[in-house]
Amino acid sequence: MAQDINQIRNIGIIAHIDAGKTTVTERMLYLSGEKHRVGRVDHGTTDTDDDPEEQERGITIFSACVKYQWKGFNINLLDTPGHVDFTAEVERCLRVLDGAVVVFSAREGVEAQSETVWRQADRYEVPRIVFINKMDREGADFQSVIDDIGPRLGGRPVPVELPVGQGPPHVADPFRGTIDLVRNKMRQFDPETEGKNVTETEIPDEFADDAALWREQLLEAVCEIDEEAMALVMEDKPVPEEMVIAAIRKGTLERTIQPVFCGSALHGIGVQPLMSGVGDYLPSPLDRPPVQGVDPKKRDKTLSRQPDPKEPFCGLVFKILPAKTGDNYWIRVYSGELKQNSRVYCPNRDKKENVAQLWQIHASKKDRDGQTDTVTTGDICCVIGPRFAITGDTVCDVKENIELPSIKFADTVLSMAIE
Ligand code: GDP
Repeated sequence: MAQDINQIRNIGIIAHIDAGKTTVTERMLYLSGEKHRVGRVDHGTTDTDDDPEEQERGITIFSACVKYQWKGFNINLLDTPGHVDFTAEVERCLRVLDGAVVVFSAREGVEAQSETVWRQADRYEVPRIVFINKMDREGADFQSVIDDIGPRLGGRPVPVELPVGQGPPHVADPFRGTIDLVRNKMRQFDPETEGKNVTETEIPDEFADDAALWREQLLEAVCEIDEEAMALVMEDKPVPEEMVIAAIRKGTLERTIQPVFCGSALHGIGVQPLMSGVGDYLPSPLDRPPVQGVDPKKRDKTLSRQPDPKEPFCGLVFKILPAKTGDNYWIRVYSGELKQNSRVYCPNRDKKENVAQLWQIHASKKDRDGQTDTVTTGDICCVIGPRFAITGDTVCDVKENIELPSIKFADTVLSMAIE
């Protein structure tokens, strides 16, 4: 079935190591129904950490792509490593994704590696939303993470979800839910169902003043983005929910703000609102600017491709995994469509390549139901058949050629050495 490109989100989760990327990913897969149990990093049972070396070391080294659906959105989730040695891997993922979720630990806050990944996301102009994780940890401090994001990262965090309490169960006011500042609701997440069951209530009186204060800050940001909302606020009229959401989305896509969510991925608290935020606020492939490249036969001629299935096909090989049955070429489709049993051109090698098999991805294992006839603009897919292309190469229509800028790994390593 053809999927609506507006409903695709190609996203990555980026963070300092240990902030909880893998746990957030696992929780998203569980809550979306993609997985029936929650994989645990500490037990070596996660889907995205499926390399034995990764499981042993308990960190995500190689990025893998997982797909899930949430409220009508098709999410392609590229899990990116957070360890400093693998910055080139993060860089390669940022090149092909449209938006990112930046995870911070509520306890550790902004860490050295968060600064590196934030700067990389700036360089690739990636819109992002923030998830402040580990709200259940001793010493969790929502406010101090918010306060750090501006001065240390140059970001403009705008909380859309507030924590109810913070810290573990034994403290006086433990973390137990969130307040949705956009919809003016309080949410409680049932630990018995690993966060699947959520109860929505009115905001209780004891939190009303606090929520109103934060809501005011949210509306201030909304007014800066949307004049119509500003006019309503000036007249003391309520700003409709849809207008608030649209303004936050606009600000996020323009990268002037970063909506902030919070929770505990380990206990399944606050992750559902984050998943909805991915759909509400992060860009679809159609929201991204056209890709720029050159005509490989006349290299001083610049070309561009709109994110449109009717344009000639072009895509980028961002990862190649060796396999006995034929190497798996991971491709991000920027324009046009790619069909099984067709041929594409690789300008970097001046070779035609076969598209013998097309696969939709489930982690880095091939899903039995994943083979498909056609993939379209915005999709991330796996192709078996090419023999010449290497990571970073362009693949395009055999007649309508374009060569996109390659992924420059050497530069990354060099700039890291200089830093
Ligand atoms: P990554 O390195 O960013 O992928 O982080 P992981 O997902 O591997 O998590 C690092 C550690 O933090 C693991 O021991 C997790 O169980 C733990 N962790 C992750 N999220 C939470 C959370 O929300 N609360 C608590 N208390 N621990 C968490």
